[in-house]
Amino acid sequence: MKHRKPREILPPLKEWGRNFRVALVYPNAYRIGMANLGIHMLYSRINGLDGFLADRFFMESHGHKPPLSIERFMPLREYDCVAFSLHFEPDYPAVIKTLELASIKSRTNDRTDADPFIIAGGPSISANPEPLADFLDCVFIGEFEEGGDELLECLRNLTCMGTPGDSAFAELARLPHVYVPSLVQFQFDGRKIASFTSHRDHILPIQAARPFLAGIEPPSTAIYTDDAEFSDMRLVEFTRGCRGSCRFCLSGNTTGPFRVFDPDLLVKSSTQLAQRRKIGVVGELFAGHPGLLDVIKRIIESGGRPSFSSIRLEFLSDDILKLIVDSGIKSLTLAPETGSEKLACAINKPLSIEKLLTVSEKAAAAGIENLRLYLMAGIPGEDESDIELMLDMAHKVHKAFIFNGSRTRLGHLTLSVNPFIPKPWTPFQWAGMANPEYISAVFNLLKSRLKGISNLELRTASPDESMWEAVLSRADRRSGMLIETASKIGWRPALKNQINDSFPAVDYALVRREESEIFPWEVVFHGSRRELLWREFKRALDNL
Ligand code: SF4
Repeated sequence: MKHRKPREILPPLKEWGRNFRVALVYPNAYRIGMANLGIHMLYSRINGLDGFLADRFFMESHGHKPPLSIERFMPLREYDCVAFSLHFEPDYPAVIKTLELASIKSRTNDRTDADPFIIAGGPSISANPEPLADFLDCVFIGEFEEGGDELLECLRNLTCMGTPGDSAFAELARLPHVYVPSLVQFQFDGRKIASFTSHRDHILPIQAARPFLAGIEPPSTAIYTDDAEFSDMRLVEFTRGCRGSCRFCLSGNTTGPFRVFDPDLLVKSSTQLAQRRKIGVVGELFAGHPGLLDVIKRIIESGGRPSFSSIRLEFLSDDILKLIVDSGIKSLTLAPETGSEKLACAINKPLSIEKLLTVSEKAAAAGIENLRLYLMAGIPGEDESDIELMLDMAHKVHKAFIFNGSRTRLGHLTLSVNPFIPKPWTPFQWAGMANPEYISAVFNLLKSRLKGISNLELRTASPDESMWEAVLSRADRRSGMLIETASKIGWRPALKNQINDSFPAVDYALVRREESEIFPWEVVFHGSRRELLWREFKRALDNL
């Protein structure tokens, strides 16, 4: 793949020679990475620290060549620290591939003190750092604003003093929110974990960092480019966490408590309109911000045009719908997940078909042209009648939205159906994923039953790819070999060929776990005790 220099508006570069150099690596496409506020936050935060610089790397920038930084075309191994930002489990093989292309040994044990520190952070690896345990020197658990600077200071001191590997790891292990996999040993019993122990300085579990947001500058677009998704707007983070407690949701269960950024700081950040007038409001539950209407009003008064992402149904008041419409947005995304009340109770995401239809009608009447519904297939306990209810709901929404009498033009309805994936730190961490054959059969049924309906589009995720994600979500460190193979020959053949000593890798995804099973991700802690999660899982099953 050819190296294509993106068109960007960058802050001035820091001097190479005098700083501790951090390579921020997003192991995915530039276009996707630059739409992620995490990269922008890390970039401006690290470059704002005295004595540190950060440059960016994206997977597609280097293809099969040694990776070079976007900013100054420097090779990866010239940096003091390589920091991977990991948001999705399927990106894990790219970590290994990136290191190997940079002539850096991928396994921690094979590296020397002359190599950069290899670290990672981000939602998926924070939830379960174990699949990449053999490859990472340490993992930052949680949100970087609390404890991230201390980690960088520590890495710089260790580099300046030339502290050798084992002593360096012991130093890192004393920091809050930092997990050092090489200081932890696991004992296995067939597929299960018998126990794990850690070095005396490394006290487990590692608590995830969840800072109070009062006084913290809201993350916002730091680098403008025309080559990324949402490139026409300045993204600003309004809220973190979620008040919902949906039992399947990684984000809702690992980013709590719900927190909001200071309204004045939001207005200040959102009214820097020199580059973009459109303001992308970011936050899973942005509509839950108590000062939202006032902040939006002030942004509009300053000449900004707010734009909104997917929204939770129960927060879609008339005021907020009006805001969305007034902002000029033509698309609305809602995530009912299922058309079945039984499954809605099981996943703990209340469903009101009546409200969904009312919102669909109001959205159509207000001029929204595209409505997207997110749904799941393979929720534990699902049967044919639940799929029928999903179809029934789709027909009703289609009628309410597309053929609304007050419309001037026909609308477009998209159903995005993804397989249910059991995630760590959620009550459904004990559940097995439905096998891909079942998911394919559901998708085929949906396709045949929705075929030919005007202005309705069905989008389905790949069942196999979802299973791969599920494997990596709940894997332990024995999956390292699988990920390594996937980095060389691709995940499909790797998964097909790989049988662990005592079980096939797909068992990580498909097998329902026992109540007392020790999980690899229990080396970290995201705030919900196992007893609470188990109780919620039992409640879910009681609804089925
Ligand atoms: S699914 Fe949405 S509403 Fe539910 S917990 Fe997750 S982010 Fe919150």
